[in-house]
Amino acid sequence: MMTKVLHLIKPSVITIQPDKLWQITLRFPPVIGMETNCWLLNGEQGLTLIDCGCSSHGEEIITASRALGEIKRIIITHGHPDHAGAAAAISRALNIPVFAHEEEICFLKGTKTVSAEAGSLICKCILWIGDRTGFVIPKVENCLPLQDQEEIAGIKILYTPGHTPGSISLFDTTTRALFCGDNLHTMFRKPVMGHEWFTLDKSTRDGCLRKYQNLDVTRLLAGHGKPYESGALPKELKDIMDKTLR
Ligand SMILES: [Zn+2]
Repeated sequence: MMTKVLHLIKPSVITIQPDKLWQITLRFPPVIGMETNCWLLNGEQGLTLIDCGCSSHGEEIITASRALGEIKRIIITHGHPDHAGAAAAISRALNIPVFAHEEEICFLKGTKTVSAEAGSLICKCILWIGDRTGFVIPKVENCLPLQDQEEIAGIKILYTPGHTPGSISLFDTTTRALFCGDNLHTMFRKPVMGHEWFTLDKSTRDGCLRKYQNLDVTRLLAGHGKPYESGALPKELKDIMDKTLR
């Protein structure tokens, strides 16, 4: 019972691969809210934090990660407030850089907002309401741009825009993990395409996810939902893409 209560008030840290890969699950609003994931990946160049929850989650992530090592860098899959919200606080507190695709840097620096970009009206409205109700990304000072196919700390960057203009996915060969941000989710245990209400340009997103189908992956780690592991994952991803693009 006590473990369950603690689970509600602390972020849950789950080991996916010992000494290599962990999931930190956060809730927004706290305790009762929706879950969002961030990930800690331990490589030759130390710990990388992939995504970082909402603006209120900075201290929770730093505390949760302390026993695992020193975070050396943050990589953001995309500039939505439930993925990049705590980037500024963590970057400042640990004096580490925040990496994002070059087209996403403007949203982290606050020179543009995603809701003002061209795309789906429903998605823009949802983002606009978020902007006006404090669901925002505090300005990140120490931002560095990434490009398609670049490698950083052994992690391959795949430019997969559409959910936002500079959405990226990350592929790590040592853990055979694909971090797909919100392009797919696993909230119903199986991978499915991310909801179009939260996606600016669905057809661009759908088209570029073909990049997933030839990756040697066994783990799909989405922004929302449990880790999904399968020896047949490349085929399953191809089937999802075939169905979507039919
Ligand atoms: Zn998103």
